[in-house]
Amino acid sequence: MARPQAELRKPESGDSNHLVLKPGREKSLRHRHPWVFSGAVERVDGEPGDGETIAVLARDGAFLAWAAYSAASQIRARVWSFDHNDTIDAAFLRQRLEASIRRRELLHGAGDALRLVHGESDGLPGLVVDRYADTLVVQILSAGAERWRSLWGPALVELTGARAVFERSDVEVRTLEGLAPRSGPLVGSVDGPVRIAEEGLGYDVDVVKGQKTGFYLDQRDNRALAGALAHDAEVLNAFCYTGGFTLAALKGGASRVTSIDTSEEALELGRRNVALNGFDAARAEWLGADVFAQLRKFRDQGRKFGLIVLDPPKFAPTEKHVPNAARAYKDINLWAMKLLAPGGHLLTFSCSGAINADLFHKIVAGAAADARVDLQIRRHLGAALDHPISIHFPEGEYLKGLWLQAS
Ligand code: SAH
Repeated sequence: MARPQAELRKPESGDSNHLVLKPGREKSLRHRHPWVFSGAVERVDGEPGDGETIAVLARDGAFLAWAAYSAASQIRARVWSFDHNDTIDAAFLRQRLEASIRRRELLHGAGDALRLVHGESDGLPGLVVDRYADTLVVQILSAGAERWRSLWGPALVELTGARAVFERSDVEVRTLEGLAPRSGPLVGSVDGPVRIAEEGLGYDVDVVKGQKTGFYLDQRDNRALAGALAHDAEVLNAFCYTGGFTLAALKGGASRVTSIDTSEEALELGRRNVALNGFDAARAEWLGADVFAQLRKFRDQGRKFGLIVLDPPKFAPTEKHVPNAARAYKDINLWAMKLLAPGGHLLTFSCSGAINADLFHKIVAGAAADARVDLQIRRHLGAALDHPISIHFPEGEYLKGLWLQAS
């Protein structure tokens, strides 16, 4: 079958930089996956600078995509567009921002904290934008997004009316792109925590020093679920950070919530969030402890919980960490299951991209077998709706969870 004409067009003479793929390696791009791995590259014509736009060509010269080049990264290029007629310029990127923000219009009822841009899944590889009330927090994670760094702040202010834009690119992944970690104001300034509202609760978010961009927006829907399951229950929130699930459970009528984290700063902010919402501090117990050890202690003490939330950090940042991570996930799930009261609920999560939903399911099922408990899957869980997953980019499905119930 003849290919559509546009695909056969060679880039025009002005497109001096080309990346040509090895024979047969164009398949993933034809499936609209946005990454070109270094191993697929036959040659680069011209001398593209970091983040510069290049044409990606199949071995036979067919145009595949416009992409941002990154000499240092294993992901040698990230696709901006599969359409040869596009010009990757400020207007194009501004349009992508606008589309991304518009995609969330239906979600604004949830509160004033929302992920506005979710990288590859929103057609903006390496760019994350979170809105916290009138402050935006931006992560610039790829050479391509870095090349356009001066665009993001002003364009976002114009599109959202935000008062300040703060950069939190102080993350390890930037070094894989040959970029130094960075953090600081892009527009305006931020003094002290930003107060957000979600589902009738207030939270103070430390956007300057907190984890990620300050708050786990991806857990919004699951926080609401925890609230619904918490009524009259003794609740355990393991890996609580600043108490997102804790607050939701208190609002849902939990008799008591025990929250565990190793970070004292996070616990301190959690306590303040309880006070901010006027809950009785006696209903919230905060433990600065290692979850692995604490779960065993609770077992020895014979404690039982009607709802347990297990939301650990990314145990498998890459493929090679998977075996150890699998053991860690199994361990905490096994011990948590032993602490469930009859009929109790477990919300268990993994945010490791390298552990897919199927493997996570297997690990948790293995834990249940070893713990000798019968559990039912009530629902598969994922990230909130402001974290879309492009159908061509399975890596976007990093957060998966299971709502389990004991018999
Ligand atoms: N559930 C949180 C996000 C959790 S992020 C929310 O919804 O906001 C993971 C948290 O685990 C971090 O706050 C980190 O400090 C904590 N942590 C990491 N290892 C830990 C351990 N071994 N024991 C207890 N807490 C740990």
